[in-house]
Amino acid sequence: MKVQFVDLKAQYASIKDEIAEAIDGVLGSCAFINSRSFEADFAGFIGTQYCVGLGNGTDALCLAMQAAGIGRGDEVITAANTFIATAEGITYTGATPVFVDCDPVSYNLNPELLEAAITSRTKAIIPVHLYGQPADMDPILAVAEKHGLMVIEDAAQAHGALYKGRRIGTLGRMACFSFYPGKNLGAYGDAGAVTTDDAELTTTIRKLSDHGSDVKYRHDFPGMNSRLDGIQGAVLSVKLKHLEDWTEKRIAAAARYTAGLKDVCVVPETASDVRHVFHLYVIQVENRDELMNHLNEQGIGCGIHYPVPLPLTPAYAELGYEAEQFPVANRIAGKIVSLPMHGDLTDTMIDRVVDQVGAVAGG
Ligand SMILES: *Cc1c(COP(=O)(O)O)cnc(C)c1O
Repeated sequence: MKVQFVDLKAQYASIKDEIAEAIDGVLGSCAFINSRSFEADFAGFIGTQYCVGLGNGTDALCLAMQAAGIGRGDEVITAANTFIATAEGITYTGATPVFVDCDPVSYNLNPELLEAAITSRTKAIIPVHLYGQPADMDPILAVAEKHGLMVIEDAAQAHGALYKGRRIGTLGRMACFSFYPGKNLGAYGDAGAVTTDDAELTTTIRKLSDHGSDVKYRHDFPGMNSRLDGIQGAVLSVKLKHLEDWTEKRIAAAARYTAGLKDVCVVPETASDVRHVFHLYVIQVENRDELMNHLNEQGIGCGIHYPVPLPLTPAYAELGYEAEQFPVANRIAGKIVSLPMHGDLTDTMIDRVVDQVGAVAGG
């Protein structure tokens, strides 16, 4: 029995008719550009006043920061261990990313390291809710308030997560979501969004995403073309209705993994006051290459999120960071493995993964 890392086919099979009907509706109306109805659905789900649908999650980060007035000469602080899109959003505006190390237990940005990273040029902090576990927002928000910095959440991995009972996506001034197909809420192509309660930022992001315009052929500034298209919006509205169910299945799968693996390797720890939505289930082992080869041979999908901390990748080499500046991110980058995680894992599949990890893991 193979165990897929992400099983988009199984998910599609379970919602095929609803999807066909939704796409058919878009085709019938020919409303191909924009999806205001999904924006309203998603804002309602997150609990913000506004949602702007965009072409993808990277654009959401780029345009949120551009709308915030971040630009050349500014610095923006984020985590060393995230997907490169977080830092690309900073680079896109002309600002400089400033990386801080992560907490060894949650893998999220360590709030205790923030103040040392702040300079007179710092404009914003971008916490990432990595793997689906909310970053420790209260201390981050406190530091930001003390220094007059904007907080923009990178919520690309955390649709439906909660921090102390509050919905991820409502905690910073803005939050950026990705609906890449493999995300917890995924489109059938690229898509993304920004959620916020700020009307002015909403207008600016919308205009930036549509040629600097909100009245046809009146261009207030040069923007770009990054809109959430109608078919993707219709797919996402269908999937949003199932998200809670899929999230509960992810959480249950994670609990079963943890019960089977806690004596075998380092398992994820969920803080007591958050809802971790397990975009990824990440363990640490000492013999990662051996484990991954074994899982591959057994037909079990696995991956590394992410193999090299961003400040040490060639893309950001010119910033001159050294590995010693990120002792935690650098250490875990050599040990982490992501196991299969999605809403269609059966107990039998999970138990098979547990057995095969247990057969070779040294941790
Ligand atoms: C996926 C992801 C993004 C980028 O989203 P795309 O839709 O692929 O552009 C940004 N940040 C994080 C943490 C992600 O996982």
